[in-house]
Amino acid sequence: MTENKAKYQHLAPETLEFIGSPRKMLIDNEWVASSSKETINTINPANSTVLTSVPSANETDVDTAVRAARNAFNNYWKNDVSPAQRANLLFKLADLMERDTKVLVQLETLDNGKPLEKAAFDIEGASNHLKYYAGWATKIEGSTVPVDSGKLVYTQKEPLGVVGLIVPWNFPLMIAMWKLAPALACGNCCILKPAEQTPLTALYLGKLIIEAGFPAGVVNIVTGGGIPTGQAMTQHMGIDKISFTGSTEVGRSILEGAARSNLKKVSLELGGKSPNVIFDDANLEEALNSLPWSSFYNSGQECTLGSRVYVQESIFDKTLEFLKKKAAAMTIGNGLDNPDLGPMISEEQLETVINYIQVGKQEGATLVYGGARCNGSLSSGYFLEPTIFTTQNENITIVREEIFGPVVVISKFDDFDEAVRKANATEYGLAAAVWTSDLSKAHRFAQAVDAGTVWVNGYDLFDASVPFGGFKQSGNGKEMGKSGIDLYTREKSVWIVF
Ligand code: NAD
Repeated sequence: MTENKAKYQHLAPETLEFIGSPRKMLIDNEWVASSSKETINTINPANSTVLTSVPSANETDVDTAVRAARNAFNNYWKNDVSPAQRANLLFKLADLMERDTKVLVQLETLDNGKPLEKAAFDIEGASNHLKYYAGWATKIEGSTVPVDSGKLVYTQKEPLGVVGLIVPWNFPLMIAMWKLAPALACGNCCILKPAEQTPLTALYLGKLIIEAGFPAGVVNIVTGGGIPTGQAMTQHMGIDKISFTGSTEVGRSILEGAARSNLKKVSLELGGKSPNVIFDDANLEEALNSLPWSSFYNSGQECTLGSRVYVQESIFDKTLEFLKKKAAAMTIGNGLDNPDLGPMISEEQLETVINYIQVGKQEGATLVYGGARCNGSLSSGYFLEPTIFTTQNENITIVREEIFGPVVVISKFDDFDEAVRKANATEYGLAAAVWTSDLSKAHRFAQAVDAGTVWVNGYDLFDASVPFGGFKQSGNGKEMGKSGIDLYTREKSVWIVF
C-alpha cells in the first residue's frame, strides 16, 4: 500500500498538463469542441474543486462521430485490416497504457476520488483486459453444420458495425475497457461515452489510441451527460448496438430508445443488491476478513458489493462486532493519500445515500455504526462514514433498493432454506456469495441462488476470461470471456448447394 502511495502520490507533469486546460473530445482522430461550444466541468470529489472541463456533445456531435465510425468501418476497418493487425494495435495500446500507468492512475484518483492503490488495480485490470481480447482477435471462428447431402453450411462471425459504449463513473477506465477491448477485437468501430463525472481517463486513452496507430474513426470518444449525449447515441439510427453499464432506470430508457429507433442490439449491466451469506460452519476468519471490503469497497459504489449480509444466528453477534470494529478502523480521505475509503462521486450521490440512511432509521432498522457525512478537514469533499444497519424486516427500503454507497444491512437466518429464500428476495440478480466449509451446501446454494455470478468462500473475484453479467433486473448479456465475443458479433449462416 505504501509502495503505491510513494509511486503515484506526486502528480506527474503530464497529469498536471492534462488537467491544466479544457479538454476536447475525439472524433475521427481529431480533438474537437462541441458544435454548441457547451462544456461541463469535471469535479474532484475529494475537495469539490473543478479539475477541468470537457465538451458537452449534442445530437449533431454524436451524428458526426457516427458518420466517422461508419466511414472507417466501411472503407478500411472491416475489410482492409486483418485480425492479426487488429490484435497488434490492441497489444500496442496495452503497452502504452502500461507506459503511462502513473498518469492514468492519478487522473482516475483525481476524477473519481478512489484511493491510488485501487486506481492502480483498475488501470492494471484494464490493460490486462485489453491484452486478453487482443488474443481473441485472431480466434473468432465460425463452424460447419452437418445438413442434407449435396449441401454445405458454414457459419461466420461478423462484426456488428458501429457500436456505442456507455460507461458509468464508478470504475471509469476499467468498465470502458470491458467494452472497448472486445468490440475492437471483433472488428467494430466504436463511439465511447464515459460518464460526465469521470471523463478524464477515457480522454487520455484517446491520446494513446492515436499514438498506437488506430486509423481515424475507429474509436471516437464523446463526452457529455446522459441527456443529451447518451440519449442521442441510444436513439441514433446509425448505431448498431449499445453496450451499457449503469443504473437499472437508465437501462430501461436505453431499451426504449432502441425500440423507438432502429431496434439496435442492447446489452445491459445494471444494478445489484447482492446477498453475502455466511453459514456458521464457514472458516470464520476468512469470511470476516473479507467482510469490510465486500461491504464498503470503492465507498460502496460498486454494483456487486454484498450490500445484504445474511449471517447464521449462532455467529451473528460475533460477526457484527467484528465488522463494527473494522469499520471504525477504516481510514477515510483524499484518494491521493491512499486511505481505505475515498469520497462519494458527487454531492448528489452523497445526498442520495444520506437520504437512504434516514429512511432506514425511519423504517425501523437499527443503525449500528456510522451514518454521517465526515466533517472537519473532509467537509469540503463528499465523504461518508461506512455505515452498518441491522434488521429482520425484509420489506424495508434499505433492504430492497440499491443504495450505491458504503451502507450494509446485516440480518440473521436460521437454516439453509431461509438463507436461500432471503438471498433471492430481490428484483436484482447480479452476484451472490456463500461462506461454508460444507461442499455439498456450497453447491446447493450456488444452484439455488438467482445470480449471474456466485462466489464460494471468496468475494468480488473477476478475470477477463470469466463471463460476468446479471440475471433478473441486473441486466442482460454477459461481458468478458468468450461471451464478450458474442456481444459484439453477429452470426451468418451460408448455404452452398453442390
Ligand atoms: P447511470 O445509469 O446514471 O449512468 C451511466 C451512464 O449512462 C453514464 O455515462 C450516463 O451519462 C449515461 N446515461 C444517463 N442517462 C442516460 C440516458 N437517458 N440515455 C443514455 N445514457 C444515459 O449510472 P451511474 O450513476 O453512472 O452508475 C451507477 C449505477 O451503475 C448503479 O446502479 C450500479 O449498480 C450500476 N453499475 C453496474 C455495473 C454492472 O456491471 N452491473 C457496474 C458498475 C455500475
